Amino acid sequence: MAGDSTVDEVILADHLLHNANPRDIQSFQENLLQQNLLRISKQHPIYSQIISKNGIDISKIKTFRDLDAMFPVTSKEDFVKNPLQYVLDSDSISPKDYLNWDVTYTAGTSGEPAPVFQTTYDFKGVLFAHKRMAKLRGMDSSDKIFNLYPLAPYPHGGWIRPSQAAAVIGASVVVGMSGSTTSAYPIIRRFDEVVELVASSNPSVLWGVPSYVLKVLRELDLKGLSVPNLRLLNVSGEPCGPKLREHLAHVAARLTQNKVGISDSLGATELQFSLVQCPGGTSFHNPVPEIARLSVIDDNGVEAVDGQPGKLQVTHINRRGTVLVRYLLGDVAIMDFSPCQHCGWTGGSIAKHLGREGKFLKVRGQMVNSESIMDWLHSQEFILDYKVIVSNNSVTHLDDITVELVTKDGTFGDEDRDILIAQLSDLAGLKVGVTQSESKVIWSPEQGMKPKRLEDRRFDG
Ligand SMILES: [Zn+2]
Repeated sequence: MAGDSTVDEVILADHLLHNANPRDIQSFQENLLQQNLLRISKQHPIYSQIISKNGIDISKIKTFRDLDAMFPVTSKEDFVKNPLQYVLDSDSISPKDYLNWDVTYTAGTSGEPAPVFQTTYDFKGVLFAHKRMAKLRGMDSSDKIFNLYPLAPYPHGGWIRPSQAAAVIGASVVVGMSGSTTSAYPIIRRFDEVVELVASSNPSVLWGVPSYVLKVLRELDLKGLSVPNLRLLNVSGEPCGPKLREHLAHVAARLTQNKVGISDSLGATELQFSLVQCPGGTSFHNPVPEIARLSVIDDNGVEAVDGQPGKLQVTHINRRGTVLVRYLLGDVAIMDFSPCQHCGWTGGSIAKHLGREGKFLKVRGQMVNSESIMDWLHSQEFILDYKVIVSNNSVTHLDDITVELVTKDGTFGDEDRDILIAQLSDLAGLKVGVTQSESKVIWSPEQGMKPKRLEDRRFDG
């Protein structure tokens, strides 16, 4: 199969990616990798320097194993510091492939958002990726998508790509247009307008951040509205663990007669697509192994075997704008390259996403990723300030983990609390308490330069 490919063949037919031999897929990718290395050695501002400075002989890099052995990793810090230096210079053979088509920014909780550029060549690849994602999720031209992503303060894939996904599969789309109302132009819909629009447009697919999708579903239910055609929830942007899924399925069932599926996904701006769950499956499928290779590496930088956790790394193998090689996304995951048991997809899957790399705390004998919790709290629009407190309950003698917070508008209803508890408990892997702070400020600059967001009171005498 892979042996039949010519230089011009950059995409595998879909049927060749189902129940395939993972080695065949990998050798197809490695062929593209070699072409990509030729391009970057001449046209990539940073990597061409790295190659010449370190005397890397790219003709010796034939496999991903060679790449891991010979090429250094790129950290998020490296990229964010100098994002324009990761964009390929044009070549003289096909300059039109290098014209910028669009740009989106990493949402990064640390530092300024960094731009990721898509050229004319890449943009068609992005559309193709979304066609594959839709197919893996079981969507087709009969679907009507309702996009619940807000209009972000800067270009972001969440708001942009679902409409393009609809275009490429021939489906209909309605966009919620929620978002920050700070724009000079009156274009943003309020929450109740978004909810009314969902009911009046009767979509088959709701697509957005899971806690926001839940909020919309609950409001529909509260108002006695229904969405008879609803059959699928596409969620991404934050973890959607068992508790949140349960809430989503429970409320959705009251709004439609259809059985409602939930397809979770893992996306990254650096990818421009998401790894998606197929119906019934729990792993996250790479829809375009022909555009990017995802793998996990151990502490020695060597690819970890399937089933072993490691640092998640991305290598673009066929892009013209922003190109990253051995790029560490900052996540810990377990990969599975074997065919999916449900749909047969053999594009490489994340079997389990273990969260962001970071600090772990031992609470009730369990390792809790406190940085994931704080990252998530930090990204919530309605939270003004927060603190994570770990303490020992004097009655039960068990460790408690509680989040104390202040909301931007001062309100915090029971429903908001329920969603927050479900979300935080999924993130932590154990029940998290939530309280609203009595004071308006949890941390003030007078208390020191850096806000203390985590307080471990267990050892305070
Ligand atoms: Zn599958």
